[in-house]
Amino acid sequence: MSNVRVYKLAQDLGIDTKDLIEHLKQLNVEVKSHMSILDVETAEIIKHEISAVLDKEKQEEIKKKPKISIEFPVTLRDLAVKIGVKPNEVQKILLRWKILAHINQNLDEELARRLAAEYGVGLKRKLTDEEEVLEIHKEEEEGYIVKRYPIVTLMGHVDHGKTTLLEKIRNLELTKNEAGGITQHIGAYEVEHKGEKITFIDTPGHEAFTSMRARGANVTDIVILVVAADDGIMPQTIEAIDHSRAANVPIMVAINKIDKPDADIDKVKRQLAESGLTPEDWGGDIITAGVSGITGEGIKELLDMVLLQAEIMELKVNPDKLAKGVVLESRISKGGPLVSVIVQSGTLNLGDIIIAGTCCGKVKALFNDLGNKIKKAHPSDPVGILGFNSIPQSGEKFLVVTNESQAKEIAAKRLDEIRLKKQAPAQRMSLKDLTKEGDKVLRLILKTDVYGSLDAVGDSLNKLKEKQKYEIDFKVLHKGIGNITESDVVLALASSALILGFHVGIDEKAKSRAKEEMVEVRLYSIIYDLIADIEKVFKGLEDPELEERFLGKLEIRKVFEVSKVRRIAGCMVSKGKIQRNTPCRLLRDGKILYEGRITSLKRFKDDVKEVQEGYECGIGLEGFNDIKEGDVVEAYAVLEVRR
Ligand code: GDP
Ligand code: MG
Repeated sequence: MSNVRVYKLAQDLGIDTKDLIEHLKQLNVEVKSHMSILDVETAEIIKHEISAVLDKEKQEEIKKKPKISIEFPVTLRDLAVKIGVKPNEVQKILLRWKILAHINQNLDEELARRLAAEYGVGLKRKLTDEEEVLEIHKEEEEGYIVKRYPIVTLMGHVDHGKTTLLEKIRNLELTKNEAGGITQHIGAYEVEHKGEKITFIDTPGHEAFTSMRARGANVTDIVILVVAADDGIMPQTIEAIDHSRAANVPIMVAINKIDKPDADIDKVKRQLAESGLTPEDWGGDIITAGVSGITGEGIKELLDMVLLQAEIMELKVNPDKLAKGVVLESRISKGGPLVSVIVQSGTLNLGDIIIAGTCCGKVKALFNDLGNKIKKAHPSDPVGILGFNSIPQSGEKFLVVTNESQAKEIAAKRLDEIRLKKQAPAQRMSLKDLTKEGDKVLRLILKTDVYGSLDAVGDSLNKLKEKQKYEIDFKVLHKGIGNITESDVVLALASSALILGFHVGIDEKAKSRAKEEMVEVRLYSIIYDLIADIEKVFKGLEDPELEERFLGKLEIRKVFEVSKVRRIAGCMVSKGKIQRNTPCRLLRDGKILYEGRITSLKRFKDDVKEVQEGYECGIGLEGFNDIKEGDVVEAYAVLEVRR
């Protein structure tokens, strides 16, 4: 490019010559007439500056315009139609950006926005029906907040008395209520104690508990661990403890069967302390209560403690909104699908439109746990619902929505998604998924043949961590003896854990569940293999080391004061190349004055991605304006290198 006359530059920029002369004056560039000649450097800088102003004006204009709402991804054709231009025009713009796109091609959000901006149009992401509904619920959640009653689950080893205890608790309370029709089994019931309510979930077993959690349903506020005083802590007790801990739910202990002559409460307390659940009277913080599911002894005290614990937890929700909750169980009854749920927030009313998973409907009838027809269900209430069109899975979330077509729409879309997922090739959970963002912990479930090897593997893992000084930590969520079971798989699924088996096999059910849910199970017969493998996992999860690579260097030749706060730099790339959006540092007299990022890079009027050695350009630095002639900017790339 050679020197240029003012009117020609105005033409290039697509603005009025008079405006350009006015602008030049503000920049202290003296011009006598529209025929005056500007030198190359000045012209380039003027172009850079004015195009920036024009860009800004365009952006402002877009902000003022109403936005077109779009569902992403959007095809090129649909976008063009929405903007009101011909698709081939859009293709031409893309070609200018060196993007070859077919008319039916999906455009991502960023590209669609850039294209729309070319036409001075703003885009607004159109919420799907589901997103809209969730948004409404979320907003309402923060409304009027009051106390709600606790929801409790009993867990423990088989035959330690969960069912007996639950029945006793219920019968003690039942005498007060008058049972109406036939008692409905709805998977949970409410008891009243000292004027407060407590909801007990009647689907004990840690597998069911964790299955619900794997679906994202955390309904339980408090776990009561039932341990028989004549038997003590057993393998499934340990599992229940580990499952509750993985879910971050507080644990209370009911030491059951204290009526038995061979009951040994102290032994149970000692075992609890050994398992990391030190009772309060032993100096820990675990509440324990001795009870009998047969005589009813201690049950009132246990309920007192549940209420106390609930008080501390300050459980609160908005009861004055559309209801939301979790499906406990469902079955086909005479009246059609009977779905029992626990309301978590809001109030469920007759006639409400409901959706759970891929099922939807309208509430025709509501039953409480005594089989009585009710008109409303409040937070923490378990309730049976008639009116669903089919039976949702337990653990599925249910929502009330405001209109029927929306409910059908959401259900249909979810069904489509499930179908698509089934067609897609199965993708294994990647190791990166296993360490949830920000928390660098590899969660493990460890199963071995004998206790000795459980300790040996644990020790080796600890040594590995110490020796290698990995930043990654690991946490054994559960360790036990015997084959890998479905309960292990469900826990791994709910907690994003990796299952390691040493000298053990995997149960058939667990195997197919693991395959279905894509839970990773690794089996070993040599300890060295296990450790070497985990070392690889650690390495893979480690943050890569970052290395800097020099990209290029430029010199600032001339600085123009555009305004008090804004300067622009006319530059020359003296070495390598300069790329937009790369990190850089600015040096003055050999000292680093600024470290940041090159946010704009222009050749004449155009934004460019890079400028090669020997060429002039204009740059903008993120959050830095104090540039001077003679400053040097070095740009570099940051590369990841695996250790
Ligand atoms: P679950 O498997 O944990 O549900 O245990 P169950 O409630 O089915 O109880 C297993 C057995 O222990 C049954 O025979 C009960 O009668 C008995 N049992 C439960 N609780 C007590 C108790 O507090 N005292 C006595 N003596 N027996 C109990
Ligand atoms: Mg039972």
